[in-house]
Amino acid sequence: MTHTGDVSPDEFRAVAHAAVDWIAEYLEHPERVPVKSRVAPGDIRAALPTSAPIHGESLDAMLRDVQQTLLPGITHWNHPAFFAYFANSGSYPGILGELLTAAINANGMLWVTSPAVTELEQVTLDWLRQLMGMGDGWFGQITDTASISTFYALAAAREAAGLDVRARGMSGRSDMPTLRVYCSEHAHSSIDKAVIALGLGHDNLVKIPADADFRMRAGALDAAIRADIVKGYRPIAVVATVGTTSITSIDAVPEIAAVTKMHGCWLHIDAAYGGVAAIVPELRHILDGVDDADSIVVNPHKWLFTPVDCSVLYTKRPEALRQAFALLPEYLVTRGQDDVVNLMDYGIQLGRRFRSLKLWMVLRAFGADGIAERIRNHCELAREFAGMVHYEGGWELTAPVPLSLVCFRYAPDGASEDRIAQLNADIMERVNARGLTYLSHTKLAGKYTLRLAIGNIRTAREHVELAWRELRDAAAIVSAM
Ligand SMILES: *Cc1c(COP(=O)(O)O)cnc(C)c1O
Repeated sequence: MTHTGDVSPDEFRAVAHAAVDWIAEYLEHPERVPVKSRVAPGDIRAALPTSAPIHGESLDAMLRDVQQTLLPGITHWNHPAFFAYFANSGSYPGILGELLTAAINANGMLWVTSPAVTELEQVTLDWLRQLMGMGDGWFGQITDTASISTFYALAAAREAAGLDVRARGMSGRSDMPTLRVYCSEHAHSSIDKAVIALGLGHDNLVKIPADADFRMRAGALDAAIRADIVKGYRPIAVVATVGTTSITSIDAVPEIAAVTKMHGCWLHIDAAYGGVAAIVPELRHILDGVDDADSIVVNPHKWLFTPVDCSVLYTKRPEALRQAFALLPEYLVTRGQDDVVNLMDYGIQLGRRFRSLKLWMVLRAFGADGIAERIRNHCELAREFAGMVHYEGGWELTAPVPLSLVCFRYAPDGASEDRIAQLNADIMERVNARGLTYLSHTKLAGKYTLRLAIGNIRTAREHVELAWRELRDAAAIVSAM
């Protein structure tokens, strides 16, 4: 007998209820799992069948396999003692949003293919814009990642330069100057990738030196642009960062905006992690000057309690995005709807998940006050941790702490730079292997530095104190070795 149609609704109900119970249990008892996965490369693969089953299996069996076979290969980003990279959160309202998005399974490629997908996205992003204290006149869209948002922004900047790259391309043209893009030496690698993918050439991304607090120098930016103009280059865009990835330094956007305005360059702001901190009234100043920019990216999937993926690109110049990307094949023509927004016109992707649902649920569940309180709390915990490091002999802070990331290291008196790097790498490896907490590292001006990034919705003081105990214990052990 062949079976057609979906599995039975009764089976779905039973297993889905069990899955929801398991999710609540999993999130409430993080101490049961090591934060960082302990599997070796290939372990998970070896535990799985090499081909798909011939006959259908029960949902129940799959749920068991997720728990028993796959979970050991998961590094638990939702663990409150996850302090590596930038911590994130799958909060309950966000998880509920994802569940409903999959169930509704709408494709918002055109307004008409699900009006609510387009309109909720626009309403939610307008809420978020207001929460961050940004002015009117911004057009928002959701993408999967900041990398794609930045790629779109720079594609619009390239088109806005008026060289008709869209129609004529960039190669084989005697009238095409070398186009240049500028960012801080601490900018994220997604800027490099965008420049590469847009055919601008990696050599034409100019990295501007930063000051002692790791902020791009507006004066050095201006000088670099002027020098390039003299050489016949054409500056088209500058990317400023609000919350750099290594250290969360905040570039001086007002001064940078004055430079880009003078030279007629597109100004894109990469605020992937830090931007949402502007929801906290006393941190609103981090977005000062942003209303003079042409575009900005913020990632709700980082510090706004929304499950991955959800990145938001705002632009003041949506027509430049349309100029870069809008196309209308006959099979997508809809009659009598010239006045609606079709989000496919503002980027590469046609199909569009109902991603705004989870963000809308997060904003509603916590409210402006609740979000501000949570982000504020993370910043306070970071300052407390920084205080503990600062006052502990043999330890030092390696960067200011403007938000919720602390850069620090163990640097006992008299130890050489090489010895310090070795000690800190050993400390991190030891702490991460114990499984109670998880940190990552960076290098700042040649100095090996540990990073403690606070951002999970369940992180409390006890988790930060635990990390500090783990670090000091590890330091005592590795320095005796
Ligand atoms: C995390 C981060 C990115 C990349 O984000 P994705 O969404 O993973 O592409 C870009 N810029 C900054 C400043 C970041 O912190």
